[in-house]
Amino acid sequence: MRIVLLGAPGSGKGTQAQRLVARHGVPQVSTGDLLRAAVKAGTPLGRQAKAAMDAGELVSDEIVLGMIRERLSEQDAASGFILDGFPRNLSQADALDRMLAQLTQPLEHALHIDVPEAELIKRLTGRRTCSSCGAVYNTHLSPPQQAGVCDKCGGELIQRSDDNEETIRNRLGVYTEQTQPLIAYYGQQSLLTTIPGTGPVDEITARIERVLAGDAA
Ligand code: AMP
Repeated sequence: MRIVLLGAPGSGKGTQAQRLVARHGVPQVSTGDLLRAAVKAGTPLGRQAKAAMDAGELVSDEIVLGMIRERLSEQDAASGFILDGFPRNLSQADALDRMLAQLTQPLEHALHIDVPEAELIKRLTGRRTCSSCGAVYNTHLSPPQQAGVCDKCGGELIQRSDDNEETIRNRLGVYTEQTQPLIAYYGQQSLLTTIPGTGPVDEITARIERVLAGDAA
């Protein structure tokens, strides 16, 4: 299974990717997660990426492509992967196609999770992530049983530093300008399916599974 999850920040790519990992046993490859880990570890790459991330801008293609090349060459990606948050612009998509062509492992699906902007803002401002296991909650829509504590592992729930209103607006603008053109790009390659991304999370997962099984969305 080699798929790309496309969608605006807050569309649920990460949540759905985690579910697909559990069901299909292929890794989630999230450039956002890889970059946040590099920032946290204080690596040179993390230091370079931090300013762009804090502003809600894209990190340079050079950094992101280097990370992806390394991650996809790891053993667990040999049986497939779920790309979450990558590619983010046309030049990344083109580089990915060339990388996968060399490995004779082309993409099989690009799934666009479609969510209206007002809903995205609600989701992003309420988003909390477990600092220990990465589980995602929302203070408005799917709160944990105890505020600030992960239901699954008891870890501390934190708000991402780029989930503030100003950075959110910028990230949505960057999405419209740079990432949205990928919908047409994958449409032309006949890889694209748009999935309505509102409603119960289980229902969205079921829509995705129907596409992966070869049925209509
Ligand atoms: P995400 O967790 O996917 O929302 O990503 C958080 C931030 O990491 C983005 O706002 C960007 O600054 C950066 N980022 C993540 N993925 C990419 C990418 N593929 N290209 C450039 N920047 C990225």
